[in-house]
Amino acid sequence: MSGACTIPPAGWYCSRGDGHEGPCAATCSAYRYGKWTIDFGPKPIPTRKFDYSFWHDDYDGAPDSFDNRAGTAASVEEAKAEIDIIEDMDRDLTEAENGQVEQALDKFKLLFRVQELERALTECSKQLRRAAKLAGNADWAINAMMEQLEAPPAKARGDV
Ligand SMILES: [Zn+2]
Repeated sequence: MSGACTIPPAGWYCSRGDGHEGPCAATCSAYRYGKWTIDFGPKPIPTRKFDYSFWHDDYDGAPDSFDNRAGTAASVEEAKAEIDIIEDMDRDLTEAENGQVEQALDKFKLLFRVQELERALTECSKQLRRAAKLAGNADWAINAMMEQLEAPPAKARGDV
């Protein structure tokens, strides 16, 4: 299956995928709005406020999905207005989420850099300690040599 079903005639839209089995889920194109389907189905209740149902093509109707992309309205116009509000809301949410992700990423990068610097510092101080020890050893060796050079020969000293 790829793309939308091509069976329905002009003016109609099938929400099922190309090459699907079974009957078409066709809707009059007048009730299509972007990636949304609006369906006229008068309810057996006195109010006409819910006669039109609408839902997004990717609507996940599972109770735990928190998918807000469906609803009811009194007319096609009202349904379209509601859809506009939902899409604006979702767009704003996505932008806010992206902003937060970028901020978190920046923080993480900074933290990583700090850790890198800390590692480099630790390595540096290790090297410094090693160098200081070597320098100390060298000092000690030089001092010992100087003492050897300056001190009169043991034998001569014993003769005095
Ligand atoms: Zn179809």
